[in-house]
Amino acid sequence: MDVKLLVVIHAEEEFDWNQGFHSTNTAVTHHHVLIPFMGELIERGAKITLAMDYPFVDSAGGREVIAHCQENGAESVEFAAHLHPWVNPPGIVQDQAVTDFESYPCNLAPELEHEKISRLTERIYAVSGASPVTYLAGRYGYGRWTSEHLRALGYQVDLSISAYCDFSHQQGPDFSDYTNALFVDNTIRHIPHTSSWLSVSRRVEKKANQCPAWCRTVNRNGLSRIFGKLLRLSRHRLSPEGNDLAQLQAITQAQMAIGQDVFVLSFHSPSLVAGMTPYVPTGEDCERLKNTTRRYIDWFQRELNGEVVLAKDMALSQG
Ligand SMILES: [Zn+2]
Repeated sequence: MDVKLLVVIHAEEEFDWNQGFHSTNTAVTHHHVLIPFMGELIERGAKITLAMDYPFVDSAGGREVIAHCQENGAESVEFAAHLHPWVNPPGIVQDQAVTDFESYPCNLAPELEHEKISRLTERIYAVSGASPVTYLAGRYGYGRWTSEHLRALGYQVDLSISAYCDFSHQQGPDFSDYTNALFVDNTIRHIPHTSSWLSVSRRVEKKANQCPAWCRTVNRNGLSRIFGKLLRLSRHRLSPEGNDLAQLQAITQAQMAIGQDVFVLSFHSPSLVAGMTPYVPTGEDCERLKNTTRRYIDWFQRELNGEVVLAKDMALSQG
């Protein structure tokens, strides 16, 4: 099986994830750590899709990252767009927090969602000299009108689907019917962020991954606790945030078992500094996260004979 991997970094500002969505949280100070780590991954053969949000592109730190990428290994990095609506103009009111509902771009009025993506696209162009063709909605908030906006603004690839995940309990989108399979809608190529069900029972694992509807039925009938306990059925994102190398390998193998051949490994750029995201309380956690990322990328290339590609390489226009 020919397998491909996208390494997607959510390049964004630093903020306390438990303190709501405030327009004033726009600091980017972790670029000192991001620049060398990206360089290290590129040296190992990786290509990086850097999904940048407005405060990141607008900050001195973010601009340093962009300039550094342009001087060293421009072919190995794609500048993509990532929308955090609470810190992305227009309509930002100082000191005003947005609600959970408004934190999902797809819940905004279609005109406002369009305008925010448009302003972000312009900002990325102004700073990097290139128009992004790949989009990632903040909080995976992709909705009914998003593909229209993306098409109108020249986008070709979307990374916003989060396979098997349901955010409707916090008024977000419900992707529980989606697997990681790539698909095209309205000329936009969708590459879901890889997730997988894992279980001690290979049979249950395969069934859950192949038929998301089956999993929903299990949940609805209140059997999830039993399944959770006996079969240890749990959902994992392909990310070094909260997963070790063995888990990332298990996710990959579980998905390969159902024919999946494209994978998205992702993490948030502030996770490279201790205390900046919930995944990395200590410096040791950061080291572990970086090490897991390095070893997974090595494993993917050496053991699976896989290729690391950019999101834009998967666009329809690339055949
Ligand atoms: Zn984000």
